[in-house]
This record gives sequence, C-alpha cells and structure tokens, in this order.
Amino acid sequence: AMYTAKERQSGVEVYDAAADGHDRGRLVLLSEFRRGMAEGHLVLHYQPKMSLHTPTVEGLEALVRWEHPTRGLLLPGDFLPAVEQTGLIEPLTDCVLDLALAQVREWTEQGWEVPVAVNLSARSVHRPDLPARVLSALATHGVPAGMLRLELTESALVAEPDRARDVLTSLHTAGVSLSIDDFGTGYSSMGRVKHLPVSEVKIDRSFIAEMATTAEDAALVRSVVDLGHELGLTVVAEGVEDRATAAALADLGCDVGQGYLFAAPMSAAEMTGWLADRFTRHPG
Ligand code: C2E
Ligand code: MG
Ligand code: MG
Ligand code: MG
Repeated sequence: AMYTAKERQSGVEVYDAAADGHDRGRLVLLSEFRRGMAEGHLVLHYQPKMSLHTPTVEGLEALVRWEHPTRGLLLPGDFLPAVEQTGLIEPLTDCVLDLALAQVREWTEQGWEVPVAVNLSARSVHRPDLPARVLSALATHGVPAGMLRLELTESALVAEPDRARDVLTSLHTAGVSLSIDDFGTGYSSMGRVKHLPVSEVKIDRSFIAEMATTAEDAALVRSVVDLGHELGLTVVAEGVEDRATAAALADLGCDVGQGYLFAAPMSAAEMTGWLADRFTRHPG
C-alpha cells in the first residue's frame, strides 16, 4: 500500500513527511529491484576461503551485487534489508542459487573444481520447499551436492527452530554442507550449533579485526576454535586483513581465513584469472 502510518492526535491526522519520503524511496527501490532481477542485473562476486595452513583455496563465497542502471554497482547493504522484508527474498535466493550453480558448472568444465558457498536469508531457511528447490537447481546445472555450501546466521534458527532444523536436515542428508555465518554476534551459541547438521562456523569479522589488540576478542576466537574442533567443525575467520592476524589465527589452529589479505570479492571473470595466476587446473 502506498500509505504511510499516520499518528492520530485528538482526531487530527499528523502527516509525517519524512516517513512518507522514506517509504516512497523504499517502494521505488523494490520495484526497480524486481525489474533488475528479471532483466539479469543481479550478479555474483566471489571471494576465496583460504586454508591458513597450506596455500589452498577451500572454497569460494558468492556475494550478490546489483548492477543498477544509474546508481552503479550496489552492495547487499544497499538493498537486502528492504528486499528481506518482502516476498522478493525468495526469488532472490532462487536467482542467486541459479547464478552460483551455473558458475560452478562452468568452472568445473574449465578444470576449476571449487565448492561455492551461497548465503541464505533467515526467511529462506524457513521455506519448506527450500531443499526441493536446491536439489532441482543442482540437477538443472548438473552440479553434485558436495559442490554447494549454504551459509546461514543463527538468527535464522531462533524463530521456529524445529522447522529450520527439518529444512537443514533435508539439505544435509542430500549432501549440501551447512555453515553458521557471523558466529559470535546475535544469538550465537555452540550449544545450539551442536544440535544442527552443520560442518562449519565462521567467526564474525568484528572479533577478528581486534583480536591482535583486544584480549577478550582473542579469547573468544580461541574458544570458538577449540569448541568448534571438539564438535568436528571447520572454523573459518572472516575479515582477515593483515598478516599478523592470519598468523595469530594459524597459531590458534583456526582452519580457514577469508578477507582482503587474500582477496576482495571479485567478478567471476576476475576470479578465473585470480585462480589461473596462482593454481593449476585439474584437467578434465
Ligand atoms: P557475509 O556473508 O558475512 O559476507 C562477508 C562480507 O564481508 C561481504 O560483504 C564481504 O565483501 C565483506 N568482507 C570480506 N572480506 C572482508 C575484509 O577483509 N574486511 C572487511 N571489512 N569486509 C570484508 P558484502 O558482500 O557487502 O555482503 C554483506 C552481507 O550480505 C553478507 O555478509 C551476507 O550476510 C549478505 N549477502 C551477500 N550476498 C548474499 C546473497 O546472495 N543472499 C543473501 N541472502 N545474503 C547475502
Ligand atoms: Mg557469508
Ligand atoms: Mg559472514
Ligand atoms: Mg559477517
């Protein structure tokens, strides 16, 4: 609806111009987004997840961008919060899955066999048809389930945890591995993760950024690495920006790092070049 909430004060409607302008901007954004998605303006950038112990790429994370016709390349922070409040988040998830799996297929054909992680919004995790949708996308692109990983935040599991667990269990059973994103923020707890079919936790970059200078952050990172390993999980550090942090993480036994130190997110074509400059293809 094109209406803005109005306050009633003793029977007189008070018009809130600021809220109205905000609402209209949001509606314009969402209608542009719907069109942009239909016209193929959503693209994925990719960032490597690097082993902290050997020079190996463990996988790539797909990060959505919107090539806006006039505003340039928009980041998730520019549009996801609005999109997540609408039914458009489901088509976005489907679109991202299709783009990512088409790219995995293309890289595999070129001899680059590297698993790709896709981010899921909380709402997608509660979609009962998510496992079927993921499996049909894998089949369409001829990609084995083991090449796909899904990253979700724990906030996705707080509302209706039983439903979320059923969805995750189906995905896990089908061979898709699951990762807890932004660990340490929000409702995080290893107690909850323990009961989920999850194979990886990613420590939020807010803890990584200051672990070299803040004892509490270093302690949290250490405990997540140790507890994660006790539960058989791979532990990933997000937002690794310098060598000292990478070395400290390696000392703590953290498995994988991701961040500007290794590479910023880049287009698929740039990623192909980045891989070719550093690694040898598996001739297929
Ligand atoms: P995330 O999944 O935690 O992704 C990591 C974010 O950190 C990315 O921001 C990445 O560009 C940024 N980053 C990577 N390395 C560094 C670093 O060394 N330093 C700093 N300061 N930042 C770094 P981006 O691409 O803007 O994405 C933001 C968030 O949007 C993601 O956080 C994820 O929650 C969400 N998102 C991205 N793509 C998708 C998608 O396709 N679907 C859904 N539902 N959410 C997505
Ligand atoms: Mg992520
Ligand atoms: Mg994250
Ligand atoms: Mg994060």
